[in-house]
Amino acid sequence: MRQTQNNVESYRDWRMVVLAGVLGFAVTLAVMEIIDAYLLSLTSLSIALAAVTGSLSGICLVGSFSAWRVRQKLSEQNMRLDGALNNMIQGLCMFDAQNRLLVWNERYRAMYNIDPLRIWRGCTIRDLLDARIAAGTFPLDPARYDGELRTALKQGKSFRLNIELRDGRIIDAVNQPIEGGGWVATHEDITERKRAEHELIRTRTFLDTIINNVPSNIVVKELPSLRYLLVNQAGEKHFGLPREKMIGKTAAEIFPKGTADLIHQRDLELLKSCRETFTDEHAIVTPDGTNRIVSTTRHPVMGDDGKPQYMISVIDDLTQRKRDEAYIAHMAHYDTLTELPNRTAFNECVAATLELAAAAGESFGLLSIDLDRFKTVNDVFGPSVGDRLLREVAGRLEQACQGAFIARVGSDEFHVITPTGPQPATAETLAAKMLAALDTDIDIDGLPQRVGLTVGVAIFPQDGVDAVTLVANADAALFRAKSEMRGSIRFFELAMDQQLRAKRVLQQDLRTAIVRDEIELHYQPQAHIDGEITGFEALVRWHHPRQGMVSPGTFIPLAEESGIIIELGEWILRTACREAASWPWPLYIAINLSPVQFQHGDLPKLVHQVLLETGLSPARLELEITEGVLIGDFNRAVSVLRRLKALGVRIAMDDFGTGYSSLSYLQSFPFDKIKIDQSFIANLGRSQQAATIVRAVIALGRGLALPVVAEGVETEEQLKFLASESCNEIQGYFVGRPKPIADYAALVGRRDAPKQKALAATG
Ligand code: C2E
Ligand code: MG
Ligand code: MG
Repeated sequence: MRQTQNNVESYRDWRMVVLAGVLGFAVTLAVMEIIDAYLLSLTSLSIALAAVTGSLSGICLVGSFSAWRVRQKLSEQNMRLDGALNNMIQGLCMFDAQNRLLVWNERYRAMYNIDPLRIWRGCTIRDLLDARIAAGTFPLDPARYDGELRTALKQGKSFRLNIELRDGRIIDAVNQPIEGGGWVATHEDITERKRAEHELIRTRTFLDTIINNVPSNIVVKELPSLRYLLVNQAGEKHFGLPREKMIGKTAAEIFPKGTADLIHQRDLELLKSCRETFTDEHAIVTPDGTNRIVSTTRHPVMGDDGKPQYMISVIDDLTQRKRDEAYIAHMAHYDTLTELPNRTAFNECVAATLELAAAAGESFGLLSIDLDRFKTVNDVFGPSVGDRLLREVAGRLEQACQGAFIARVGSDEFHVITPTGPQPATAETLAAKMLAALDTDIDIDGLPQRVGLTVGVAIFPQDGVDAVTLVANADAALFRAKSEMRGSIRFFELAMDQQLRAKRVLQQDLRTAIVRDEIELHYQPQAHIDGEITGFEALVRWHHPRQGMVSPGTFIPLAEESGIIIELGEWILRTACREAASWPWPLYIAINLSPVQFQHGDLPKLVHQVLLETGLSPARLELEITEGVLIGDFNRAVSVLRRLKALGVRIAMDDFGTGYSSLSYLQSFPFDKIKIDQSFIANLGRSQQAATIVRAVIALGRGLALPVVAEGVETEEQLKFLASESCNEIQGYFVGRPKPIADYAALVGRRDAPKQKALAATG
C-alpha cells in the first residue's frame, strides 16, 4: 500500500524536473528571438538577458533535479521501510494525534483477517475494531478497550494486554505513545510461547508435586556454593523448618555447628571423590534441636560443562528404626518387668564366663535362686502387688551382687554368675549378701511384705565344665535346699547329681509307662459317717519294671515337669469314668486333676467328650483340685472351673488347710466339697491345734453349706471325733485302702462279688 503511494510521488517528481527544464529552455529561446527581431543593435543586452534567462532556467532545472533526487531517496527509504514493516513478525499500526491510522503492515491486517476494504489510511481505531469484530478477531468490548487505551495514552503510558482470540490464538498487543501525539501499536502472536510457558509451568508443577510428595526427605543444593535450592515437604518436616528459612542458605546458617560442619564435610567429600553417589549414616541435630540418626545419599548433577552443578541429597530418617532395633535387642536380652538380664542374656554370659575362666584356669560360682513366699503374696494381694514386689526384690538383689551377673530366668527364679575368685568363699559371701538384702520388709502400698531366698550353688570347674551341667547342678542344690530348709544356701554335692540322674531316668521311663501298661488305677472308698459308701477316689499307680511300685507323690511331679501329665491325666480320666460307668450302683467317682491340666489344652472339652464317650452321668463325677490350680493364672483357672461346673460335674477342694490361702479360694469359686488334709486328721489325737483346725473347717463347711470330707481317717477315735463334730463324710484306711476295683466289686454293686463290709479297716 505504502509502496504504491511512494512510486506515484517519485513519478510526479520526474515530470516536474523535465517540465521545469523544457520551460526554462523555451523561455530563453523566446527572449532571444524577441531581442533579435526588435533590438538587433542590442546584441549584448540580448545575450545578457538570454544568459540570465538561461541561468534561471538552469537554476530551475537544477532545483527540479535536486528535488527529484530528494524525492527519489525518500521513495527508496519508504520502500525499504515498507519492506521492513511487511517483514515484521509483529503486526504494526501507527496512529496520529487525532487517532487516525497512518501506517499499518500486512501482518497486522492478516493477523486479524481484516477485510482490505475496511482498513485505510485515516481510519479510526474504532473503524479498525469494528473491522476486527466483523472478522471475528476482537473478542473484547470495543468501547471499553478504546476508552482504556485512550486513558493510558493520555497519561503517556503504554497500554498492553494479551488477547485470546476465539480460534485459540493469544496476541500480545502493545500500544506505545509516541512523541508529538499518536501511538504505535505492535501485535504479536504469542500462542506458541504461551503454550510452551504453560507446558513448562505444568511440568514444573507436576515435578514439584511429585518431589513434594515423595516420602523421603529430599534437598537440592547449588554447587559450588552449597546453598539449599530445594527442600521437599518431607524435608521441611524432618528438619522442623519451613523451606523459606532454608532456601538460599548454607548448612552453617541453618544447623547447629557440629551438625553443619559434618554436613559440609560430607558434601565436600562427595565433590572431591567425584563418585556417582555417596551414602553415609550419621547422627544430626536438626534446627529445632531434635537428635536424629539419618542415612544420607548424595548424588551430584552435572552441568553442560561436565562440572557438578547441583547436589541432590535423599535423607532417610533411621531414628525410629534404630530405636525399634535397640528396643528389640533390649527386649531379647532383658526382662521387661525387672529390667534384669533374661535367660538369653544369662546363657550368653555363662558361655563367655566359662570360656574366660577355662582359659585363665580360674573358678567361679553359679547360683540358682528361688524366692520364698512370693507365690503366696502374688496370690493373696494380686499380680500388681506381686509385680512391684518382684521389681523391688530385683533391685535389692542387683544392688547386693555388684560385680556379679544376675538374670531373672523364671517368675521368681534368678541365676547369678559370681566374679572369678577363690571358691566356694566368693559364692558363699555373695549368697549371704543377697539373703541379707531381703532381710527387711518391703513396703508396698503401706503393707510390709517379706520374702526370702533359697540358694543352690554349683562351682566351676568341679561341679561342671559346661553351662548345662553347672545350671542343672545348681538347680539340684537348690532343690535340696528347698526340701530341707527354705532360706538356706546349699552347695552342690555328688549325691545330688546321682539323685538328679535317677530322677531323669525315671522321667524317661514314665514316657512309655502307659503304652507298656505299667499304669493302673486304684480306688479308695469314701463313706458317709454312718458307714454307707458314697463313692470312690481314683488314685493312680505305677508298676515300674525295675523299681516296683512308684508312689504318685514321686512320679506325678515328674509327669507335671515334663508335660507327660497331659497324656497321663487324660488316660486316668477316661479309665476312671469308664470304670464308674460300669458300676451297677450309681456311686460317684472322684478324680484328681493336676494344675498343669488347667494350663494346657481344653480341659472342659476333654471332660465333656469323656462323659459322652463313657456314658457316665456328670452328676457322678467329682473333680478334685488343690490350690496349686489357682496359683498362677488365676483368671484362666477360675474360667476353666466354671466351664467344668457348667457340665454338671462337682468340684472338690483337696488337701484343704495345707496351702497358704485355701480360705481366700473358697471365696473365689463355688466349690462343692472341701477335703480336710489328712495331716490334720493324723494329728487329731496328738495335737490340740489339729483338733481346733479340723473343728473350724467343719464349722466353716457347715456355714457355707459345703460338705466336708475328712481324709486319712485311720482309727475309730478319729471317726468318733469327726462324728462328734458332725463331719458327714470320711475317707481313709479305716474305710478302705486304695485298691484295684475288683477288690471292691461288692461295694459297687457287682452281684457275683463276695459280700463286703461297708466300714472296715481292710488294710
Ligand atoms: P490325695 O488326692 O490327697 O490322695 C489321697 C492320698 O492319701 C493318697 O495317696 C492315698 O493313698 C492317701 N491315703 C488315703 N487314706 C489314707 C490314710 O488313711 N492314711 C494315709 N497315710 N494315707 C491315706 P497317694 O495315692 O499316694 O496319692 C498321693 C497324691 O498323689 C494324691 O493325694 C494326689 O494329690 C496325687 N494323685 C494320686 N492319684 C492321682 C491322679 O490320678 N491324678 C493326679 N493328678 N494326682 C494324683
Ligand atoms: Mg485327692
Ligand atoms: Mg488329699
